Amino acid sequence: MNSSIIQRLAGCALLSAALAVGTVSTATNAATDTTTNGKKDNSLASSIEADYRDRLGALFTHFHRNPELSFTEFKTAKRLAEELRQSGFEVTEGVGGTGLVAIMKNGPGPLVMMRADMDGLPVQEKSGLSYASNATQIDPITNTEVPVMHSCGHDVHITSLAGTAKQMSERRDQWSGTLMLLGQPAEERIRGAKAMMDDNLWQRFGQPDYALAFHVGAGFPAGMINVQEGSPFAGSDSVDIIVHGIGAHGASPHAGKDPILLGSQIVVALQTLVSRELPPREPGVVTVGSFHGGTKHNIISDQARLQLTVRNTNLETRDTLLKGIKRIAENLGRAAGLPEELLPEVIYSKSSTPPTVNDAPLVRRLKAVWQQGIGEDQVMSVGSQGMGAEDFPYFTTEPAIPSVYFTVGGTSPEQFKAAAEGGPAIASHHSPLFKIDPQPAVTRGVEATVLALLDLMPAAN
Ligand SMILES: [Zn+2]
Repeated sequence: MNSSIIQRLAGCALLSAALAVGTVSTATNAATDTTTNGKKDNSLASSIEADYRDRLGALFTHFHRNPELSFTEFKTAKRLAEELRQSGFEVTEGVGGTGLVAIMKNGPGPLVMMRADMDGLPVQEKSGLSYASNATQIDPITNTEVPVMHSCGHDVHITSLAGTAKQMSERRDQWSGTLMLLGQPAEERIRGAKAMMDDNLWQRFGQPDYALAFHVGAGFPAGMINVQEGSPFAGSDSVDIIVHGIGAHGASPHAGKDPILLGSQIVVALQTLVSRELPPREPGVVTVGSFHGGTKHNIISDQARLQLTVRNTNLETRDTLLKGIKRIAENLGRAAGLPEELLPEVIYSKSSTPPTVNDAPLVRRLKAVWQQGIGEDQVMSVGSQGMGAEDFPYFTTEPAIPSVYFTVGGTSPEQFKAAAEGGPAIASHHSPLFKIDPQPAVTRGVEATVLALLDLMPAAN
C-alpha cells in the first residue's frame, strides 16, 4: 500500500467499528445462543432468508467479485438499479455522478430515505475467499492500474438495499408513505453524498422526514446491531496553512521573517485548542500531519506549509476548532511582526464532512423496535472509540433531518473465538484480509432496515 493510497483511505470511515472487538467479544455467545429467540416477526426473517438463498447470496458474491472505485461505480449502479426496478421502484440513475435514487410511493405519510454506499477500494484482496476479487481498474486519480476490493463491506450495504426493496415492495399493505433508497457513490473519498446533494437531490426527489444508513462492522458479531445516541462518526476537516515569511540569509535572520519558526510556533499553539479551549469531556483532534518549508541549510525561506486534519463530534466544537486555527495562525503572524498582507493563510478544504450525529429520540425509538422485533440480546449500544469520519451527514445536516446511522455486525462467532484463543486476528476494514460473514450481515441488515421503515411509515388504519 503506497502513501497516496494511505492518504486517501485516511478520511474514510469505518475504523471505529473495528475497535469494538475486545469490548463486545463477551456478547458473542449470547448472539449465537439466542439468534431466533424473541423474534416477533418470524415471517419477515424467514422471507429474508429465502431471498438470500434465491437471490441475495449470489448478488453479494457478484458485487464482491466486481468492486469499483469511487465515482466509477458504473456496473455496480446499473446492477443495483436493475434489482430495485424489479422490486417495483422508480429508479433514476446518474445522480451526483454514478449515484442512483429509487422511489416507491405508497400513499400518504412520511418520506423516509435509506442510503447504501457502493464503492470499493484500491486494495489487493488476500482474504483467501473462494469469491475473492481479482478486479483491477485504472485509478482515475493516479491514472495507474490498481487492484480493487470491497474491503470496507459496501457490498453488504448494496446487497441489503436490494433485499430491503423486495421486502418493502411485498409489504405495501403494511406501510404508508414514500420510500427513497439511495445508492451513493464515493463514500471512501467522502465526496459522493455531497455530489448527490449538489445534484439537487431533495429538490428533485423530495426532502426526507427521516434518514437511515448502516455500516457492516467487522468488529461486531455477525448479525448484532449496534446503535448509539450521539455521534457514531466524527466530523473531519482538512485545513491548509500557508505560512508566509520574508526570505533572508540564514546567517542574517534579523533581515527576514522566518516562516519555519513561525510555523513551529503555530503547531505548538494549536495544541491548546483541544487542551485549553474544549471542555475536558468534549472530544476533538487537531493533528498537523504535514509541515514543509525551506530548501537549504543556510536560507531562511519565504514560505512554509502545514496540513492539518481536524476531528470533532458536534458542530459547535467544529466551529471552535476551525475558527481557533485561523485566530492562532493569524495572530502569531502579527506577533512575529508580519505585515497584514503576509499573515498566515488558512484554507479550509472542500473535502470536509460534518459529524454524523444520531437523533436521540429516533435512536431510542428504533432501538425499542429492534429489541422487540429481533431480540433484546441482538441490540447493543457501544460508543465509538475513534474519530473516523463518514460523508452521510451531508444528507442530514443542512437542512437538519432526524437520522440514525447504525452498525450491523459482520464477523462470525467462530472467528472471534479463534482470535481470542490466539488464532488470526479479526482483519480490520480496509485490510487486504478483510472478510465479512455475508449471510448474517446481509439478512440482519435487511431485517433491521425493514423493521425501522415499517415503524417510521405506519399504515393508515
Ligand atoms: Zn465504509
